[in-house]
Amino acid sequence: MSVQVAVNGYGTIGKRVADAVAIQPDMELIGVAKTRPNHEAELAVENGYPLYAAIEERVELFDDAGIELAGTVEEMVDAADIVVDACPGGIGAENKSLYEEHDTPALYQGGEDADLVDVSFNARGKFDAAAGADHVRVVSCNTTGLSRLLAPLREEYGVEKARVTLVRRGGDPAQTGRGPINDILPNPVSLPSHHGPDVNTIFPELNIDTLGLKVPATLMHTHSVNVTLESSPDAAEVRELLGEQSRTFLIPEGSGIDGAGALKEFAMDRDRPRADIWENCIWSESISMEDTDLYLFQAIHQESDVVPENIDAIRAVLGTADATESIELTNDTMGIGF
Ligand code: NAD
Repeated sequence: MSVQVAVNGYGTIGKRVADAVAIQPDMELIGVAKTRPNHEAELAVENGYPLYAAIEERVELFDDAGIELAGTVEEMVDAADIVVDACPGGIGAENKSLYEEHDTPALYQGGEDADLVDVSFNARGKFDAAAGADHVRVVSCNTTGLSRLLAPLREEYGVEKARVTLVRRGGDPAQTGRGPINDILPNPVSLPSHHGPDVNTIFPELNIDTLGLKVPATLMHTHSVNVTLESSPDAAEVRELLGEQSRTFLIPEGSGIDGAGALKEFAMDRDRPRADIWENCIWSESISMEDTDLYLFQAIHQESDVVPENIDAIRAVLGTADATESIELTNDTMGIGF
């Protein structure tokens, strides 16, 4: 029997998660909820997804816009085996009581505080801990990218300390109000940025320092990574290890992919939906070893790397597959791996 999945919040993350749920053989998308009758609400209807009003008082606005509703968010949550909350950061916390009232387990996104939930999730780093949990947070795009990178390094070589500088996009392409538009901001200016502590929700014992900046870009984040390992493999070995991971893309030397713009072009040329790049994009040539210090650059597509993680988190919570089975199925159905 298929798992009945609802998505509350149909924006950047929610619409991608909904599409990914809809193509899983073991899941059924029973509906998506939206606050406003905008172009994304129309898209949900065009896709054949039952659309629910997230705020009851706004039902009339949908009627006025000629957008047919299947009901209210309460009805959707009640009918679901699990709900994926993809509302803006902080709204998930407000929705928690709704999910509890209907006894529906919920996944939240990285914009929520870690202490809102029973457990934080990354498929590669921490799958099993989510089993049977009522409230689970799929960590943010940056934390997902770092967890995927650090998991194999920890297992294979041991990590003495990780130091990461995150050069973050100012906003997503459709976020017209975000910035900076002509500046480079240390953000936050004090250390650590929240990313290091957030990685510790996946790997509690890991020694990691992170620094953040914000730049006038919308396409992707870029991480400058230094990891002091507990052993000293050569760069070729590390390259091989990272290349074997199923959600990493080692940008080949000589490919001409010199940044986020070329990566997005690469994804568009390969007909990726919305030019999404679900994988960590690691520049192969950047992987270097100096004694026990590993250095590399990776780019992270903020709008999409968490999408397969949400799919795996559904199976982890409901116990319908183990980590390997779930990751493989998600990768196969979505077409992950260039
Ligand atoms: P978004 O603003 O693009 O989408 C959120 C959607 O939720 C919007 O359609 C909004 O209208 C709707 N919404 C607002 N209040 C609601 C309510 N009460 N009930 C139902 N729907 C409501 O935001 P997003 O970028 O998709 O972010 C969602 C979450 O994912 C946040 O926690 C964010 O931190 C996290 N996240 C975002 C990114 C990213 O780069 N965009 C990456 C990883 C994680």
